Amino acid sequence: MENKVNLQEIVKKLKSEFTEEQIALALGGALGDTSVDCRNKNVRFVYKHGIKQKAYCIFKANVMEDYVKTPPKKVKNGGYGTFNIGFSTVTNSKFNFIRDICVKQNPQTGQWEKNPNQNWMALMGLHAFSFYFMDDGSLNGKRVRFNSHAYTWAQNTVILNRLEELGFSGKIYTERKKDGRKFYFIELNTESSRNFLNKTRKYAHSDLIYKWDLPELKYINCAICGQRMVETQYHRQSKYPSCSKPSCKKRARKLAKRDYQRKPENRARRLKKRRERYYSNHEEVRRKKREYERKRRQDPEVRARINANRRARRKRKKAEKELLINMESGGEK
Ligand SMILES: [Zn+2]
Repeated sequence: MENKVNLQEIVKKLKSEFTEEQIALALGGALGDTSVDCRNKNVRFVYKHGIKQKAYCIFKANVMEDYVKTPPKKVKNGGYGTFNIGFSTVTNSKFNFIRDICVKQNPQTGQWEKNPNQNWMALMGLHAFSFYFMDDGSLNGKRVRFNSHAYTWAQNTVILNRLEELGFSGKIYTERKKDGRKFYFIELNTESSRNFLNKTRKYAHSDLIYKWDLPELKYINCAICGQRMVETQYHRQSKYPSCSKPSCKKRARKLAKRDYQRKPENRARRLKKRRERYYSNHEEVRRKKREYERKRRQDPEVRARINANRRARRKRKKAEKELLINMESGGEK
């Protein structure tokens, strides 16, 4: 059961206590890399990054500076010989809203787990999502990907719903590992990705601006109706790129199929298959069929039915014939 929370009150309280950037980092970061320490009476945030993201980590510390006592420190990453850089905020009752809306305690292990839900998502804006993108996002070609592998399908759906509310459309994809585990991630479509990046570029940290570097957008025309449209991966792969109109899609599919069948090798393959099917155990099939019919006719009930059908058929043919003769003679007159 989710706790019942009054969102408007929380928003009001947050706005009076934090800056807009702090709220975005708290909410978007919690969805991403930030660990939320809920063990004590009051909540604190713990941030940890690879040494390559030092500047980004310091930037985060600056955002939270009112609540940070010790600046980011280098710590050895156990056993790997690499270094991490991290810091944590002080525990503060002001952060407890995170415990109310963003996490839930696992009843078995007692651990606090992140739990993306509608209340949390309702507070997430573009700024918050840009922090999430910097933490766990990447560009897959021209598409924005949120590596939401940590969350379940239902939680991913909630996140995607919020993105759709903000005006972007995308899909949840499944990634299957060799050991059978399933993970999910979210990808926005080509146009939405561009929109998202344009709208969030102002929030990007300079070290992570490469995530905003999209290749140039190409335009092509629909092969059927000629309408100008943004080229997507689907268009590049298909021979007859079509717009989203069903008639265009249908026609494009038909043309592609025709081309496929026109190729001599495909034609030969198709004919060969058809021939094989036709001649495969032909005699055997015929023999079996004859046998079956013979056995069936031995049943008097079936026999009567067959005879009745034959009579009906003869009658129908006769009637048709008469009708035809009448029509012909009627035409002459
Ligand atoms: Zn079209």
